[in-house]
Amino acid sequence: MAEVKKIAVIAGDGIGPEVVAEAEKVLKRTEELFGYRFETEHALFGGIAIDEKGTPLPQETLEVCQNADAVLLGAVGGPKWDSNPAELRPETGLLGIRKALGLFSNLRPAVVFDCLKDASTLKPEVLEGTDLIVVRELTGGIYFGEKYRRETENGQQAVDTCAYTVNEVERIVRQAFEIAQKRRKKLASVDKANVLESSRLWREVVIRVAADYPDVELEHVLVDNCAMQLLRRPSSFDVIVTENMFGDILSDEAAMLTGSIGMLSSASLGAGSFGLYEPVHGSAPDIAGQNLANPIATILSVALMLRMTFGYADAADSIEKAVAEVLDAGHRTSDIAVDKSSAIGTIAMGDLIVATMK
Ligand code: NAD
Repeated sequence: MAEVKKIAVIAGDGIGPEVVAEAEKVLKRTEELFGYRFETEHALFGGIAIDEKGTPLPQETLEVCQNADAVLLGAVGGPKWDSNPAELRPETGLLGIRKALGLFSNLRPAVVFDCLKDASTLKPEVLEGTDLIVVRELTGGIYFGEKYRRETENGQQAVDTCAYTVNEVERIVRQAFEIAQKRRKKLASVDKANVLESSRLWREVVIRVAADYPDVELEHVLVDNCAMQLLRRPSSFDVIVTENMFGDILSDEAAMLTGSIGMLSSASLGAGSFGLYEPVHGSAPDIAGQNLANPIATILSVALMLRMTFGYADAADSIEKAVAEVLDAGHRTSDIAVDKSSAIGTIAMGDLIVATMK
């Protein structure tokens, strides 16, 4: 009998509960097909937690996550809470949960499904074969460095500091090498070492750590060049690792290669195998409660969880192949449908993927 893996399930707000319900069906089918065992525990987070518990991240939710092997998150937020003060905003809970769980990296795969190549703004022949992952440092760099304003003889000046320690760089770089080892064994480290001291340190660490991963082909790419190459030769990238702000920008750029936000999964990882998995999209209040949301981003987030936290590559492959097959057969939710009148709903898409898993 397989070991029971504990998953904290946080549905959240808006379309969160709808897409998470489909992802849970996929988890159940994975148990039936592969004999793996999952124990799920639901917890309140975001707007719904503000309404029911008076805080976006209740202590008991944090405990459920801390006692789990992985977290599956839907999405949080919505107009109802938009004018709340910062401590009563769902998005404040997102920063809080990442910090409390020690999640220092964010992974975003960008995979172009053949049958959706035409949905992208890039030419299909440029996109052919694109399957990359951006590994972004999440807790350091300019977003977290010292910030202040001061008076100078030329008027007021604003200062943001970009700071990285060797340890902060080393832990994410090692993680990226390890991810590359499980993929096509190519790593692009992105920096701005021709200008920034923090990037020169970043590159020194990458070169030192690379000696421990001789089977991984390493290239250093300056961030401005990377932004261009992602549009020119996206299929040549496998794993891209970079610091916080560069990663923020490049992961959004890479995301757009694939066409729709409803397809994009993500993982946030810390030390060890624990991870938080969620779709890239938000709570989409404009389509919530109408069975219109595309559940594929959340379902692919489950596949990422099975692969990265549990090492269940067979089950992850099964889910990813089922998604590709369902799309190849022409089934679309309205966000990715050319002919909207033939689009299917959230539940039908989930059911088709479950039925196609082998
Ligand atoms: P959004 O991602 O929720 O929606 C942007 C657009 O994409 C909308 O038109 C929406 O209908 C569409 N869309 C998103 N996901 C979809 C899906 N699965 N299927 C079909 N269409 C989909 O972004 P937004 O409108 O900027 O934000 C809405 C709320 O979500 C805000 O409160 C925001 O703060 C929150 N948000 C939360 C997260 C998160 O929980 N991690 C991330 C981003 C935004």
